[in-house]
Amino acid sequence: MSEPLRYERLEEARLGALQELNLLDTPPSESFDRITRMASQIFNLPISAVSLTDRDRQWFKSRVGVDHRSIPRDKAPCAQVAESADVLVISDFAQDACYADSLLGRSGIRFYAGAPLITREGYGLGALCVLGTEPRAVAASEVAALRDLAAMVMAQIELQHAFGRVDPLSGLPSRNQFLDDLADLAAEHPDEARIAVLVDLARPEQVGAYARVMGPGRIDDMVREAARELRRLLGPERKLYHTAATQFAFLAAPGVTQDNYVRLLAEGHRQARQRSMTGMLLTSAIGVSVFKPCATAPQDVLRALYSAVQDARSSPDLVSVYSSSADEAYQRRYRLLQDFGPALRADNQLRLVFQPRIDLPTGRCIGAEALLRWNHPDLGPVSPGEFVPVIEHSPHAQTMTAFVLDLAIAQARRWQEAEHRLVMSVNVSAANLHEPGFGSSVESALRRHGLAPERLELEVTESAVMQDADQARRQLDALAAAGIRLAIDDFGTGYSSLAYLQDMPAHIVKIDQSFVRKLGDGEREKSLVRSMISLSHDLGYRVVAEGVENVETADRLVAMSCDEVQGYFYARPLEVDQFEVWLQEHKQSAEREAKINAEL
Ligand code: C2E
Ligand code: MG
Ligand code: MG
Repeated sequence: MSEPLRYERLEEARLGALQELNLLDTPPSESFDRITRMASQIFNLPISAVSLTDRDRQWFKSRVGVDHRSIPRDKAPCAQVAESADVLVISDFAQDACYADSLLGRSGIRFYAGAPLITREGYGLGALCVLGTEPRAVAASEVAALRDLAAMVMAQIELQHAFGRVDPLSGLPSRNQFLDDLADLAAEHPDEARIAVLVDLARPEQVGAYARVMGPGRIDDMVREAARELRRLLGPERKLYHTAATQFAFLAAPGVTQDNYVRLLAEGHRQARQRSMTGMLLTSAIGVSVFKPCATAPQDVLRALYSAVQDARSSPDLVSVYSSSADEAYQRRYRLLQDFGPALRADNQLRLVFQPRIDLPTGRCIGAEALLRWNHPDLGPVSPGEFVPVIEHSPHAQTMTAFVLDLAIAQARRWQEAEHRLVMSVNVSAANLHEPGFGSSVESALRRHGLAPERLELEVTESAVMQDADQARRQLDALAAAGIRLAIDDFGTGYSSLAYLQDMPAHIVKIDQSFVRKLGDGEREKSLVRSMISLSHDLGYRVVAEGVENVETADRLVAMSCDEVQGYFYARPLEVDQFEVWLQEHKQSAEREAKINAEL
C-alpha cells in the first residue's frame, strides 16, 4: 500500500474512533475543565485545552484562557500530536520553521507543549496542551505530568463512553453494547449464522408484585444473583449482556447447531428452575433467535428475541425459537389495532353491509343483519372474523359498536321511511355489556334517528353473556325494558345451558352455522338441530338458523319448524343499494309464489 493511501486509511479509522465517542460539539463538562485548570496551574501558563483533532479543525472539549471553541486543523500543533501519538514541545514559535507562521504563532503564542490522547486501540484523538506567550523550556518532570494529565482525560472519556454501555446494577455490558457488538459481528463475519439467546427472569407483573411485597432491593439482589449464575454457566468465553431490568442476552459459540443448543437450553433452564435460584415464584423464559449478521439488523435481532421470549411464556418448557410467522401474525394484529382508530375517523374505510333475514313460513324478508366491513388502505379488505376479535379486546370495542349502531340505526330509519318493514340486527360485544350507560346510549341513538325500539335487535354471543352474567343480565334487562329485541348469537358454540339462558331476557336464538351446515351429514346432526329448535321453542324463543347455503337445508329447517333463516342460499351480505334491489326482486317473487300457492 502506498504511503498516502495508508495515511488516509489510518486517518479514516482515527476519525471513526473519535466520532464513535460522541464527544465533538458536546457542552463543556466540569470533569474535563478540572484537568485543564490543573495543567495550566502546574505549568503556570495562561492557556490550556483538551483539543480534539476532527477532519479539518481542532475542537476544544475544555479550555482555559481561550475564547473560541475551535481553530483550523492546518498547522495546529495538536494535530501533529494526534497524528504522531507523541508528545510535542515547541519552546519558541519564533524559532520554529514549521509553526512560526501558523495561526497560533501569528496570534502571539510562543510556547506549546502537548501530550497525546490515545485510545486503547492506539488512535490519537487529540492533545492535552498548554500554551504561553513567552518562550519556555520544559523539564522532564513537567512532560511526565502532562502525560499523566492526558491519561486522566482519556480515563474520563472512557468512563463517559462506558456510561450507558455497562449496566450499573450487574456491571455487565448493556443493551447498547449488545447492539454495537452485533454491528461489529456483521462487519467481521457477515455470513456466519449465529444463535442469540434472551433470558427473561420474570413477567413484568411478577416483578411489580414481588417488589411490592419484598421491596425493590430484593429484586436487585435477585437480578445480581441471576447474573452471577448465568456468568458461571456461560464460562469466560461467552459475553453476557444485561439488556433490560430482568433480561440477559448472549450469543452461542459460532458453529453450534440449533436443535442441540435449544435442547441444552431447555434442560439447563429446567434444572435452574428446579434449583430455584432465588426460591421465588417467578416464571423465567428463554427466547432464541437464529440469524445471519449480514441479513438481520442488530435492532431486529433484539426484537426477534423479545418476540420469542413472549412466545416462550406459553410454551411447556418455557423456551421458544423465534418464528417469523408467529411474529408476522402478532405484528398484523398490532397493526390492525393501531390502524382502527384512524379508520373510525376516515370516511372511506369502514362501512356496513346487510344480510337479509327470511321468515320461513311466509318466505318474506323481515330483517337484516348489519355486518361491518373494513377496507384497510394498505392491507385491503380485512374480514371481521379477523379484526373484530382484536378490536373487541381493546379500548376501541365501545367506539366500534357505537359507530356501527349509529350507521345501522340511520339506515333502518331510511328503510322505515321507504315503507320496508324490517328489523335491523346489530352485533354487540361483551365489552358493551359491561359498559356503563350502554343501554341509554342505544336509546339516545334511537331517539336521535327517530327509530322505534322494536325495529332494532341486538345480537350478543353466549360467551359474552357468560363473562359476567350478573352484569350482562342487568344490562340486557334494561335494553329489553326499553323495547329492544335481543338475540343470542352463535348459539351452541358456548358452554351455557339452555336452562341458564332461560333466565336471560332474550327473544331470539340464532343457531350457529356450524350446526346448520352439517344438517345433511346424518341423523345425529339432524336430531341435534331439531332438539335445539324444539327446546328453544319450549322456552319461548324464536329460532333463527344461520348459514343456510342450499335448498335442502332450507327444506329440512322448514320441516323442523324453524322460524327464520339467514344464509348464502337467500343472499350474501349486500351493499346497501344492492340490498334494496334484492329486496324488491325478492318481494315480487315471494308475491308470485304466494299467489301460485293460493291458487293451488
Ligand atoms: P355473525 O354475527 O355470526 O355473522 C354471521 C356471519 O356469517 C357473517 O360473517 C356472514 O357473512 C356469515 N354468513 C352468513 N350466511 C352464511 C352462509 O350461508 N355461509 C357462510 N359460510 N357464511 C355465512 P362476517 O360478516 O364475516 O362476520 C363474521 C363475524 O364478525 C360475525 O359473526 C360477528 O361475530 C362479527 N361481526 C361482524 N360485524 C360486526 C359488528 O359490526 N360488530 C361486532 N361486534 N361484530 C361483528
Ligand atoms: Mg351476528
Ligand atoms: Mg352468528
